[in-house]
Amino acid sequence: MARYKGALCRLCRREGEKLFLKGSRCYTDKCAIEKRKYAPGQHGQKRGKLSDYGIQLREKQKVRRIYGVMENQFKIYFKKASHMKGVTGEALLQILERRLDNVVYRMGFAVNRREARQIVTHGHFLVNGRTVNMPSYLLRPGDIVEIKEASRQIQSISDSLSIAEHKGFPEWIEMDIQNLKGKFVRIPSREEIQLPVQEQLIVERYSK
Ligand code: SF4
Repeated sequence: MARYKGALCRLCRREGEKLFLKGSRCYTDKCAIEKRKYAPGQHGQKRGKLSDYGIQLREKQKVRRIYGVMENQFKIYFKKASHMKGVTGEALLQILERRLDNVVYRMGFAVNRREARQIVTHGHFLVNGRTVNMPSYLLRPGDIVEIKEASRQIQSISDSLSIAEHKGFPEWIEMDIQNLKGKFVRIPSREEIQLPVQEQLIVERYSK
């Protein structure tokens, strides 16, 4: 499937805010948005006020960019969320959080979701003892994610894990760092997802 392979900082600048797509760099003054808080491109500094439709569109793009999901896949997730019990916007974020690449990132095996996606695609992970190389694989509560025996020496994974250990892990994840594995304990609540997004705007956009 086609995938955005360009500069991640451009995506933040397009949305006009930090989406924390890179990792540690996002917390330093090297962050591109600290220096140039306007959209990229020739007319980036001239863009005017957004319509209601434009605001809803930007919110949807923001969420897609945070999770690295393409438009068609995002629509499928929205449809799935709209058939679930509860608040659709919240259900949508919960589905996105269940993606294997996101959980690998949340477990600290990668510094950002793009890197997580790559190491999943390269087949370095087992889910409940079986190789899964699909970043979009949706985890269920109780699933165990672990690094394959043959992939345990990968330096970038150990480095990333040390940083994550220092920062701490979400409450809905249980880590066994010694054995390079983690448990997806439960689906996080909206408060636990802690993303600066207004998901109801996405619901409004798709409800038209
Ligand atoms: Fe976004 Fe991080 Fe780049 Fe800053 S450093 S613009 S937060 S991806």
